[in-house]
Amino acid sequence: MEPITSALLAWYDRCARVLPWRGFHDAYRTWVSEAMLQQTRVETVLSYYPRFLSRFPSLSSLAEAPEADVLKAWEGLGYYSRARNLWKGAQQVMAEYGGVLPRNPEQMRKISGIGPYTAGAIASIAYDVPVPAVDGNVIRVLSRLYGIRSDAMARETRRRIEELAAALVPPERPGDHNQAVMDLGATVCVPGTPDCARCPLSSFCDAFIAGDAADLPVLPKAKPQKVIPYSVLLILSGNRVLMRQRTEPLLRGLWCFPMFEGDLSAEETRAAAEKKLRLSLSVPEEAGSARHVFTHRVWQMRLYKTGTEASAPAPEGYDFVPLSRIGDLPLPAAMNAALALLTPRA
Ligand code: SF4
Repeated sequence: MEPITSALLAWYDRCARVLPWRGFHDAYRTWVSEAMLQQTRVETVLSYYPRFLSRFPSLSSLAEAPEADVLKAWEGLGYYSRARNLWKGAQQVMAEYGGVLPRNPEQMRKISGIGPYTAGAIASIAYDVPVPAVDGNVIRVLSRLYGIRSDAMARETRRRIEELAAALVPPERPGDHNQAVMDLGATVCVPGTPDCARCPLSSFCDAFIAGDAADLPVLPKAKPQKVIPYSVLLILSGNRVLMRQRTEPLLRGLWCFPMFEGDLSAEETRAAAEKKLRLSLSVPEEAGSARHVFTHRVWQMRLYKTGTEASAPAPEGYDFVPLSRIGDLPLPAAMNAALALLTPRA
């Protein structure tokens, strides 16, 4: 075994984080945890993971569930395409693999929602296949360890990191090794200034010796997020409110209130809403503002409240949802501030 690997495993045996998805050789559980952990902090996943598994205890129960139930169980975690892909992937595994995730990472990558990282994680953790699982954490740790000072996203560099990662994975305990790298990247070799004094690999580490760990990995400058202004309009009709299940890729399948792009006044919002929805509305009352940050964009929302006739029919593509039923629908966190304006809320 590589000296780096044995030092890392010895550290892992002493310092591994205790996490509810560890200690099982169960590909479904590992898959759910890895899907939830993409772009999401461990602390957030800790509360969602057990709830999701008690609602969908097996791959078949997930595959058979309606999409809305899966999105509801994912509500608040964000990046909902992960939930949809997991659900579709479960159906694919039922249909094509007899309900059992394949061991082979190449085969696994043909399943919806499973990319190279997730395939490596599931194969190594659940099936003890000695393959790496390279994500942003691993790129950071290995860039520092091996002193890689070229653009970490460039194809050549990426290939080199993958080769180095593969060479480190031991045939025994591959899953523990991959989880050890993840833990090191999450708790010691963190973004910004790493805690090298606590690191089991400092004597092997090129960046530690060179003193430039905080500058690695070399990453291309992130593009500034695009800020998009919206009016979010709560249209009350008796004890119902107008909503729409989104069909756009962003937040598809989740329920939102009508939204109109632009930094619009109350009167402008009413005019836009009447034109689009063909409803007669009273002048909206401005009820606050909210901001929701996605990966590449920000919704800057002005919140308005208005009313229409109690018997008004819903425009095409929309539904008037009874206030007591809103809680049953999958709702994105982006609508939280608008939802808080509705009382009573179920
Ligand atoms: Fe990261 Fe520092 Fe450890 Fe190197 S010594 S791997 S930079 S924590």
